[in-house]
Amino acid sequence: MNGGTIRKVTVIGAGVVGLAAAVALRRDGHAVTVIDRLPPGEACSFGNSGAMPRNHAMPMSTPGILRKVPGYLLDPLGPLAFRWRHLPALAPWLVTFLQSSTPKRFDHILTTLTRLMQQSHADWSVLLKDAGMTDRVRENGALSIYRSAEAREAAWPLWRMLIERGAQVERLDEDALRAIEPGLPAGYRCAVLEHDYRHATDSHRIPAGLAEYFQRQGGVIRRETVSEIEMGPHGPRALRTNQGEHPLDLLVVAAGAWSGPFAARLGHTVPLEAARGYHVTFLDPGVTMPNHVLFVTDMRLSLTPMEKGLRVGGNVEFAGLGAPPDFRRPARQIENVRRLFPHMRAEPHTKWSGDRPMMPDSLPVIGRSPVHRNVLYAFGHGQYGLALAAATGRLVAELAAERPTALDLSPFRIDRF
Ligand SMILES: Cc1cc2nc3c(=O)[nH]c(=O)nc-3n(C[C@H](O)[C@H](O)[C@H](O)COP(=O)(O)OP(=O)(O)OC[C@H]3O[C@@H](n4cnc5c(N)ncnc54)[C@H](O)[C@@H]3O)c2cc1C
Repeated sequence: MNGGTIRKVTVIGAGVVGLAAAVALRRDGHAVTVIDRLPPGEACSFGNSGAMPRNHAMPMSTPGILRKVPGYLLDPLGPLAFRWRHLPALAPWLVTFLQSSTPKRFDHILTTLTRLMQQSHADWSVLLKDAGMTDRVRENGALSIYRSAEAREAAWPLWRMLIERGAQVERLDEDALRAIEPGLPAGYRCAVLEHDYRHATDSHRIPAGLAEYFQRQGGVIRRETVSEIEMGPHGPRALRTNQGEHPLDLLVVAAGAWSGPFAARLGHTVPLEAARGYHVTFLDPGVTMPNHVLFVTDMRLSLTPMEKGLRVGGNVEFAGLGAPPDFRRPARQIENVRRLFPHMRAEPHTKWSGDRPMMPDSLPVIGRSPVHRNVLYAFGHGQYGLALAAATGRLVAELAAERPTALDLSPFRIDRF
């Protein structure tokens, strides 16, 4: 119980972030309820690529990205795309996004995000064990594969930045690469192997397992839609849902890409965008499954070996939250994977799209509301929500208990823009 005050805590959002927070809060003895309109882990946390690296905290806005934007605008099915219709609404976000790519800003963001990821990697080791979920991950590492040594050398400055912050990587040439990854697609001659890189063998089973563990520990999950935050003299006092009113002492906003309106109701307009991604999982691909998470660098796609099959992911589309998915994108992913593995069986496969909660500086919002002391925020984890969830949960519990936090939370403040 850690000696803190025991309170009635409500978490909005049963994604991987909300559930990790709920577990950590419950561990401190609070009476914790999680409310979600969907079953646990069925929004963005459902179908991600499962990567849980220790050190690969690459922000989305990298130096030099400005030069690439015209290309992104012209190819609606490219690895990073914008829907023209959404551009006017996206413009202010895009400005901050591009400002985050200056070498100085990028350096700072990379350091901050890496510290959070390293903390989270350590926290996941404990959490996976406590929740009895160590069999839901593999610790085999990741391979970024290149067609030539020149291509790898061109990318080396970014690798060097990861190495300076603790990444353990090895350059592999073709023989060494094929020895550890026999099913490699043809034409890839070298790689960078990252150690300290675990991945989930079924991304949905991570939040689902956290939800079961949380309930075994006495936590409550309600399947309801939150429609209003009722305010009292000292901040929020209850949540109104489609099924009634739920009084609370402390509110945690962990509603992923849908957190914006809740933050606005609580006094902060946040630049949160949905960075939509798509996956295709080949259920019976008939190719040698990779041993590692593979990043096919020239195509900007990831291949994750999962329990159910081979998952391809790794693209971003800014279309606006609520815009219908563009299933030409997974069709393009299938074409790309067929180019890699011409003999692969594409059928049967599953397709999915999810909305990453994306802040323009790639840093999540984690912290106490400067307006209401009984509000904590935990959203905006972008492309790394699974990897960063365990540390986010720990930090939320530390704030709730008014303990010193494991990390300096000033870079994650809600009012930083
Ligand atoms: C294609 C793709 C690949 C990815 N790959 C990786 C990866 O390899 N590694 C990694 O770390 N991350 C990855 N991510 C990102 C990761 O999936 C997200 O960052 C993470 O799932 C966000 O978790 P969350 O809990 O914040 O949000 P969510 O999982 O979206 O949860 C938010 C919840 O809030 C609920 N909610 C919203 N509004 C309301 C309301 N009014 N009432 C009740 N409930 C509400 C929603 O129903 C939802 O369940 C990937 C994402 C995509 C799309």
